[in-house]
Amino acid sequence: MDCIFCKIANGVIKTDFLYEDDKVVAFKDINPVAPAHVLIVPKKHIESALLIEGEDFNLIGHVFKVAQKLAKELGISEDGFRIVNNCNRAGGQTVMHIHFHLLGGRDMQWPPG
Ligand code: 5GP
Ligand code: ZN
Repeated sequence: MDCIFCKIANGVIKTDFLYEDDKVVAFKDINPVAPAHVLIVPKKHIESALLIEGEDFNLIGHVFKVAQKLAKELGISEDGFRIVNNCNRAGGQTVMHIHFHLLGGRDMQWPPG
């Protein structure tokens, strides 16, 4: 499958991981929009949040556990941070393999663009 995040998660494209286990990887976004901008990516190819089903919901819970751990390690947990999932075109999703942006290191705006 020609999926950039599958290739990164499977090590076909060499990437430095901030975190890896049997279910997810986390690595720095290539185009950061905050001082801390990490992508947390399930190894399983799920296209979008709309297509989470069955056991996958446990996997998504695990993503949030990893986000907590990374936020603490990155020193953004106390000040605060944002976890973003963009879903489909209008949601701003450009890579069709589910992923969660962990953003921090600056004050976030609301509403988002
Ligand atoms: P989306 O717009 O789908 O929510 O987020 C995709 C994100 O993946 C973007 O922030 C983009 O900068 C990042 N990205 C796309 N290709 C690569 C890549 O090859 N390596 C890394 N580290 N990030 C990528
Ligand atoms: Zn994929």
